[in-house]
Amino acid sequence: MPKRPLPQPTPETREFWEGASRRELRIQRCRGCGRAYWYPRPFCPNCSSKDVEWFTASGKGRLHTYVIVHRAAPGFQDWAPYVIAIVELEEGPHMMSNVVGIEPAPEHLPVGLPLEVTWEQQEDGIALPLFRPAGSTP
Ligand SMILES: [Zn+2]
Repeated sequence: MPKRPLPQPTPETREFWEGASRRELRIQRCRGCGRAYWYPRPFCPNCSSKDVEWFTASGKGRLHTYVIVHRAAPGFQDWAPYVIAIVELEEGPHMMSNVVGIEPAPEHLPVGLPLEVTWEQQEDGIALPLFRPAGSTP
């Protein structure tokens, strides 16, 4: 499989990518209002508190919405057709990812479909969190 474009960890996202390398879906939570959030930020997007912490999410969620890509962006042509989805994590935040392990067709992608994280290991030590139907085998 050809290499796909990969993220570059930043100071704000390093904890996430280090967790991913251990197959842990690390997201943040506010100690002030208790709300979990994604993407990584040094303050709470709900109440602006800087009293925030990282924790390991369950990796479970539901399909919130999606698009099936047939004409892929540069660097992604070898995967088309593929699914770009917004996953509503069990802890509340929405995360953009791909749904894999399923034929990319609307009849297989009902809104609310239970999903679980699965990891795609890349050569450079980056593991990408993708989602598959809950209970399916990789
Ligand atoms: Zn807060």
